[in-house]
Amino acid sequence: MSREIPYKTYLSEEELPTAWYNLRALMPGKCAPLLNPGTGQPMTLAELSQVFCEELAKQELDEEHEFIPIPQPVFDFYKMFRPSPLVRAYFLEKALDTPAHIYYKFEGNNTSGSHKLNSAVPQAYYAKAQGLKGVTTETGAGQWGTALSMACAFFHLDCHVFMVKCSYEQKPHRREVMRTYGADVTPSPSETTEIGRKILAENPGTTGSLGCAISEAVERAVTTPGYRYVLGSVLNQVLMHQTIIGLEAKKAMEKYGIFPDVIVGCAGGGSNLGGLISPFVADTLRGQRKCRYVAVEPVACPSLTRGKYAYDFCDTGRVCPLAKMYTLGASYMPAAIHAGGLRYHGMSTMLSELHDQGILEAMAVSQTQVFEAARTFARTEGILPAPESGHAIYGAIQEALRCKREGKAENILFGLSGTGYFDMVAYGKFNDGVMQDYVPSDEEIQAALAKLPPQP
Ligand SMILES: *Cc1c(COP(=O)(O)O)cnc(C)c1O
Repeated sequence: MSREIPYKTYLSEEELPTAWYNLRALMPGKCAPLLNPGTGQPMTLAELSQVFCEELAKQELDEEHEFIPIPQPVFDFYKMFRPSPLVRAYFLEKALDTPAHIYYKFEGNNTSGSHKLNSAVPQAYYAKAQGLKGVTTETGAGQWGTALSMACAFFHLDCHVFMVKCSYEQKPHRREVMRTYGADVTPSPSETTEIGRKILAENPGTTGSLGCAISEAVERAVTTPGYRYVLGSVLNQVLMHQTIIGLEAKKAMEKYGIFPDVIVGCAGGGSNLGGLISPFVADTLRGQRKCRYVAVEPVACPSLTRGKYAYDFCDTGRVCPLAKMYTLGASYMPAAIHAGGLRYHGMSTMLSELHDQGILEAMAVSQTQVFEAARTFARTEGILPAPESGHAIYGAIQEALRCKREGKAENILFGLSGTGYFDMVAYGKFNDGVMQDYVPSDEEIQAALAKLPPQP
């Protein structure tokens, strides 16, 4: 019997996790390695270290250590914005008239407005510790670029951000936040890189994609001395940094003797969802706890629900290593939906593997459905969610309504990955009733999948 649960639960400073959780140590050999596209062989530490900081390259390859200690300067920075609250959504439950208990972990309480800062801080820290001058990156909706700008300002590093063009145009204020933190921001694809010029020549008028921006950022990093490239999602290291979300959530729920029956999150590259579920999946894999895990993605970019589990390039420019993942094909250009953070053709290898094993379920939703859920949430729980997070809200509401039909008081946990204050153009379209949905045809997806590289 659980005690009356407070609306919000924060861990104390003493209770904060001091190590990240590396789920791959529980599934050795299961997550397919990154491959060198030239040789078809697994990427070595030496090869990865040319693109990434050495410590991060090590983390990328680590299948051995279940816990990776959080360095003290990172832990200290975390304390500026962590712990994040675990909230019992009493008001949403009431509005839905559901017997389910809904919890959400809210990651939007920092200036970047999302969970992205959890990985930006260690990535900037390790770059500085290695004596680098700066880092380059891509940003979709702008949350990652903002988070990295904040971390780089703190650790005194230069920061070059390639921002997906449609977001750059939809969210001019994002750019100014990044510049305030000292970052240099370029809309992508741009004329400033070789790959950007090539993509523009082949797709005139393109609004860009995360895959394009990644290619440009990698090119800039490897052609500028003292620079490395950092990525805000998809990679093993990023998912691992994000486990701070799941570790805190698990500890907070354990205080009340609760284990979730279902965990829901939005999935772009998979970092907030992977970080939220990893510590819980560990219990499931050990056979200790049953729980369902649900990824929610946009119908416009449905990698888990309509993609293929195959080796593919992580970027449109095909300069990055090959990763095995559910993918729509690196050449797939998603429609300019408002959840910019979910416009990625692939999915983290670890989540792809969990999906393939039947542990992670997936569903796809349209953006009007997402904004309806976001509006319901804003009006009941007060927080104005990011469009990305609206996907998770939609999924959680569906689960709560199922519980109502089945008369079950299940515990639902979802990840509220961020806030939507920079997405008011999107909310405006929704409020005016002119928001459009886009569902790609099978032909469109097949055309991109036909360009997958030869499989090893
Ligand atoms: C970037 C972003 C996402 C998607 O990225 P994941 O790596 O899948 O977590 C989701 N929500 C918000 C608020 C984001 O900024």
